[in-house]
Amino acid sequence: MVHKVVKKEELSACVTPAYGSRAMSEPVPKYTMPKTGLDPKIAYDLIRDELILDGNSRLNLATFVTTWMEDEAKQLMTETFDKNMIDKDEYPQTAEIELRCVNMISRLWNAQDKEEATGCSTIGSSEAAMLGGMALKWKWRERMKAQGKPTDKPNMVMGMNVQVCWEKFCRYWEVEPRYVLMEGDRYCLTAEEAVKLCDENTIGVVVIMGSTFDGRYENVKEVNDALDKLQKEKGLDIPIHVDAASGGFVAPFLQPDLEWDFRVPRVKSINTSGHKFGLVFPGVGWSIWRDKDELPEDLIFHCNYLGGDLPNFALNFSRPGNQVVAQYYNLIRLGFEGYRQIHKTSQDVAMYLAGKIAKLGPFELISDGSDIPVFAFTTNDKANFSVFDMSDKLRERGWLLPAYTFPANREDLAVLRAVCKEGFTRDMADMLLRDMKTAMDYFAARPTHVPKQDGSSFNH
Ligand SMILES: *Cc1c(COP(=O)(O)O)cnc(C)c1O
Repeated sequence: MVHKVVKKEELSACVTPAYGSRAMSEPVPKYTMPKTGLDPKIAYDLIRDELILDGNSRLNLATFVTTWMEDEAKQLMTETFDKNMIDKDEYPQTAEIELRCVNMISRLWNAQDKEEATGCSTIGSSEAAMLGGMALKWKWRERMKAQGKPTDKPNMVMGMNVQVCWEKFCRYWEVEPRYVLMEGDRYCLTAEEAVKLCDENTIGVVVIMGSTFDGRYENVKEVNDALDKLQKEKGLDIPIHVDAASGGFVAPFLQPDLEWDFRVPRVKSINTSGHKFGLVFPGVGWSIWRDKDELPEDLIFHCNYLGGDLPNFALNFSRPGNQVVAQYYNLIRLGFEGYRQIHKTSQDVAMYLAGKIAKLGPFELISDGSDIPVFAFTTNDKANFSVFDMSDKLRERGWLLPAYTFPANREDLAVLRAVCKEGFTRDMADMLLRDMKTAMDYFAARPTHVPKQDGSSFNH
């Protein structure tokens, strides 16, 4: 049978197939806003299709950020997309839920304020770190002014392994960063080295619970005790801020006896990312202070709300409220035991994978995933490929396993890092191992291969 061409007047009666419309065979408007719009379905298909070229987030072992949530959480987030976190008068229940999260997290970290916790939600740990750093700077200035001393040269002590948000804090708020450099196989700050850098202009020491370079915890208690000794000897009273972007939602569940939080007297403030091991999709962090005395009053803006008082400490104004709602969903849906089980599983997978990689031959572990479920490893002299080659080769199979060099003094050290999160199963770990072995065979069959020396694909 011969198909007849459809007549123009019949055309409106038939449905154009999704990929048969004209918009699908023409370039998409890219840099100038088009004069007229598109059908919503066509716009949706075009953009979704373009995003296929992004990496698959479930095979992304580079990111610390949540890539899987339950359908109920997704539905709740979709239903609350329209809520603006800052509109506390229009959305008092969203504000109440934020307050509940602050209280739950503050108690998880053994804060001292038994009645009412002091803290807030943020867009992530970076904003939370800025708020924590500002409070330290303000408190230091108060102390110095009270003693009639100059306040023009504040400094902050931290390890060279800090996340970029602390370099930002120092540059934006004009604080001199003082770094404890890496040395040999010490990749983080130690109490002894930190104290050497402290003086009366030190606004605080940042201690990291879960270094982005290798997933290790720094020793908060030791830094506390060394600062106690410093106070006895030199009279300097220096506070600690803990950057627990990852560890804040891991240590309470997996290392409950480890004293790193408000149980340690000098810890005045802590930040965490709800969107890392707090298990919420990107867009939420938390800043918590030991008690309200640690948050200077003149940093807080008081907005009038129907005769009531709404205190606000934030860099942003408008921000999605649904991230905070999703955090509360996780807290009550999972409970302590749920978080513990999920992170224990991730840790088992991380330590299993690290153990297997150590036995492959050409690799040495830098860490093993026993703090947060994150570990780093490097190549040894049995390898005829670099970490950058391995990262590139695995990308062909869809895996995103970043390779990067360490900072000063260990720029010579290049590693691969795996972040094992909820949704990365033991079975997926076995698939990755199989692909690593295939890559090793590939390089073994090419003895003329010259290992790639750089090409850092690290995102902190
Ligand atoms: C991820 C991370 C940050 C930044 O957190 P965001 O939530 O991405 O802003 C800061 N510090 C550490 C240790 C981190 O791991």
